Amino acid sequence: MGNSSSSSSLAPKHNCQVVIVGGGYGGVKLAIDLDSYCKVVLIDPKDAFHHNMAGLRCIVEPSFVNKTLIPYEGVLKHGSFVKNRVVSCNISRKTVTLASSEEISYDYLIFACGSSVPFPGKVPLGTSMKGAQQLYRDCADQVTKSNKIVVIGGGPVGVELVGELATDFPDKKVTLMHNREQILDDRLSRKFVKRIQDGMKALKVETVLGERVDMDDLNFDSDKPWITGPVTLTTDQGTSVPADLVFRCTGLKVNSVAYQSKLSDKMEKNGSLKVDRFLQVEEIENVFAIGDCNNTPELKLAYTAKLHADAVAENIKRLNESKRLKEYKPGNSAMSLPLGRNGGATQLPNGMVAGSFLTKSLKGKDVMTPSFWKLMKQKMPSN
Ligand SMILES: Cc1cc2nc3c(=O)[nH]c(=O)nc-3n(C[C@H](O)[C@H](O)[C@H](O)COP(=O)(O)OP(=O)(O)OC[C@H]3O[C@@H](n4cnc5c(N)ncnc54)[C@H](O)[C@@H]3O)c2cc1C
Repeated sequence: MGNSSSSSSLAPKHNCQVVIVGGGYGGVKLAIDLDSYCKVVLIDPKDAFHHNMAGLRCIVEPSFVNKTLIPYEGVLKHGSFVKNRVVSCNISRKTVTLASSEEISYDYLIFACGSSVPFPGKVPLGTSMKGAQQLYRDCADQVTKSNKIVVIGGGPVGVELVGELATDFPDKKVTLMHNREQILDDRLSRKFVKRIQDGMKALKVETVLGERVDMDDLNFDSDKPWITGPVTLTTDQGTSVPADLVFRCTGLKVNSVAYQSKLSDKMEKNGSLKVDRFLQVEEIENVFAIGDCNNTPELKLAYTAKLHADAVAENIKRLNESKRLKEYKPGNSAMSLPLGRNGGATQLPNGMVAGSFLTKSLKGKDVMTPSFWKLMKQKMPSN
């Protein structure tokens, strides 16, 4: 296996090999959960876990980026990390194929390939630690230089981004443009959405809602994830908004490359894998999918990816020991959405909505960075 690392030669309890495709929130948690149980191979094209939930803080505080990238090296005590991309799988031969053409065999295969959203929500697939640090620094420079900043897309990423910008740069004009009248997901409560809208008003974020931005002349791509102006954005309703920096927070794509050639009959239209109540890919006993790349009917979150990882760790052990599998039950909608360092709202799974005090302590203050360094048993840099 090229580019692989193993921290210890101590043997885990069981001899079976679990291959995990993707070292995001779900994949890393599952790898750590199974590390002393069996042989784990974690595969990701990056050299570090990207704690993307904290990525938006980095464009207003660029030194924060060092706290959001946690090297994979040394995280698994028994298992190995392979820095590569899975390009295909062979279910009958029980192998995955890497971009380098090497094959890795498995007893159990887990797709944890997640999803991509435009920078600064996540970094482009395969970005190295150094590349991510540079990207966030360049972006933070542009933010400092700009006075009129427009964010397109009123989902949680766009809303959180305007909150970060308006909190740290109250003198800049920050505008959120969204094609629907209502921001955020319809599954969230009205009370939660109202709190967020009130928070944005208090931060003097301007909004253009229910109007579609004409994207034809805006050439976003992975090399140019933001647009610098001066530029005038126009909408289908004839509204014009001048900007000198534009971010696009729309267009989530499921990362399906690893399985799309062989499992197209198991895929939803959006590219996610159809799983059963045990999180097994439909009709394939030893293949599971977790996190953003499966089709469970719930908000796709790092929190749910972690719950999937815990459930699949348990089910792999049960399957391996010929025990009955445990059902995964999707939970109620929940979300903690900070508006900068001090504001925002949290909807709890029981439907209750809390304000800025809880949101700040849950996420706004340190964007949950310490807990991920702790999970990966490494020391967080001070800056
Ligand atoms: C700005 C922002 C803020 C967010 N805030 C929150 C929050 O506060 N709370 C919350 O719960 N959720 C939050 N989310 C959502 C959360 O980030 C996602 O739901 C989460 O990333 C899903 O985790 P995952 O493990 O399924 O996939 P990902 O985290 O997307 O990880 C997938 C991994 O798979 C790798 N990969 C992809 N394709 C391949 C391949 N072919 N071969 C090998 N590896 C591959 C990728 O490199 C990546 O490392 C936020 C999202 C964004 C963008």
